[in-house]
Amino acid sequence: MGTKFFGLTGGIGSGKSTLANIFKQHGISVLDLDQVGHIIINEDKEAQHELIRAFGERILNQQHIDRKRLAQVAFASSQNTQTLNQIMHPRIQAYESGWRNQQNVAMAIIEASVLIESGGVSRMDALLVVLCDEALRWQRVKQRGNQSKQRFDQIVQQQCSDEERIKHADYIFNNNGRLGHLEQQAIAFLQQQTL
Ligand code: ATP
Repeated sequence: MGTKFFGLTGGIGSGKSTLANIFKQHGISVLDLDQVGHIIINEDKEAQHELIRAFGERILNQQHIDRKRLAQVAFASSQNTQTLNQIMHPRIQAYESGWRNQQNVAMAIIEASVLIESGGVSRMDALLVVLCDEALRWQRVKQRGNQSKQRFDQIVQQQCSDEERIKHADYIFNNNGRLGHLEQQAIAFLQQQTL
């Protein structure tokens, strides 16, 4: 029996990681592609060289790539974003592919903030989308700390709209309520999968 791979996406602060953690607590295997990107930036020497060659030493802080600086440069223009994607996406996909081959279970989840924008959604068997109103998302991100409203707005601009996400969604999770409400939806989804 092959593993069914579910993509999981949603806007900044919508609750992707929170939902992914609920799934993990229920024994589901989860890969976070945003985290994979971080691992590549921190550990893949060849990727590091390509990024420095493309964007210059201004992305460095004490000889190491600083993700905040990289984001500032990479998202400054659509051409830069494209260059970043050309460097990162093949490597993220290769990592994902290796991880998929290790899964020996009925279902697994692949979480990513830009799964639709990157085209990664086409590699998924089905898509889970978390929705939460933007004002509440900002409240929660603000509470999480370490992010300005300006940066939040910038990221919202770079990401696709909920309308677009809904078009691609096979399952929708509403996270405007309490954590317990999200968990109830996760449990209902898991029960549906085992029927
Ligand atoms: P990002 O796109 O920035 O990675 P995300 O979509 O993964 O964000 P989370 O980090 O899961 O979102 O959630 C954003 C913040 O809101 C976190 O601090 C989380 O603990 C909190 N949060 C998520 N869901 C709820 C909820 N239902 N009630 C209260 N707080 C919540």
